[in-house]
Amino acid sequence: FLFVLGSFVIACSAKVDRFPLPGESLRAGAFTVEAGGKGLNVAVGARRLGVAVDGLLAVGDDLFGGLAEPTLDRAGLPLSMIRRRAGGTGAGIGFTDAHGENCLAVFPGANRLLSAADVRTAPGLTRAALVAAQFEIDDAPIAEAFMLARAAGVRTLLTPSPYREPAAGLLSTTDILVLNAVEAAQMAGSSRAGQASSPEDAAALGASLLARGPDLVVITLGPRGAVACRRGTAPLHQPAFPVTAVDSLGAGDAFTAALAAGLVQGRPLTVCLERAAACGAIVAGRLGVFDALPSADQLDRYLRP
Ligand code: ADP
Repeated sequence: FLFVLGSFVIACSAKVDRFPLPGESLRAGAFTVEAGGKGLNVAVGARRLGVAVDGLLAVGDDLFGGLAEPTLDRAGLPLSMIRRRAGGTGAGIGFTDAHGENCLAVFPGANRLLSAADVRTAPGLTRAALVAAQFEIDDAPIAEAFMLARAAGVRTLLTPSPYREPAAGLLSTTDILVLNAVEAAQMAGSSRAGQASSPEDAAALGASLLARGPDLVVITLGPRGAVACRRGTAPLHQPAFPVTAVDSLGAGDAFTAALAAGLVQGRPLTVCLERAAACGAIVAGRLGVFDALPSADQLDRYLRP
């Protein structure tokens, strides 16, 4: 099974003709509240693709924290993943204007309170096939989880997003690194941050990241697909599936979910990448994330219509 370490964020979004000015109140044309966070999205995405999922998600003792149980229940995820902490639940608030431009603020809340002790007392982590984490939680629980996983022979997958420099030693316990082109350039310390938009540039970045510990580096390139680099073999380029992007939010999480699911299911890397790109395209072509993540049937039909 897949073990997902954090995060849980309630995302609120208002559709407005234009962004409000300081001190101004505007009437919103639509308002949505969705449970998300990179961790939850990967857990839900993988579960929908038929993989058993366990993990840890920290929520607060506020109104939003109460949404965790029905959300996990609806997604078929074990409620035992939830850790309740005093304070606020991770939450984001954003505006989308008439041009589709976004602005948003995200409060990490309880996600920051997931601790190394939580990881040590989590049953099951060392029995997983793969442990996946992202940077919406602190370094300490990730370091602890990856150390325990490494000692138990469990593979680890890191998405360093939102980007920060990884804590010392973290990459040496990371087997699989999945990141977008901007994050890859930041991690490689490239002065050309954000310019790795071609598969060739991405392959060069991937090669330099391989040298830091992981044995598989996957760099996503939005509508240009993804590049996977392994030591000693030529890089693989997975083209993107053509889609009219409605809302690219969550495409990266969907990609990671399907990649992780495929790896847990023991599929060959090329198949995992194809399914990941299809899953990313499906979510990019739909509004929202939670409801947009496809089932195994939907993904199979998308790949073989
Ligand atoms: P992130 O959201 O983390 O920046 P990307 O934008 O690179 O990640 O998207 C992840 C994956 O989702 C891409 O590798 C691609 O396969 C798919 N994807 C994203 N946007 C599109 C798009 N506009 N058209 C087709 N596929 C897309």
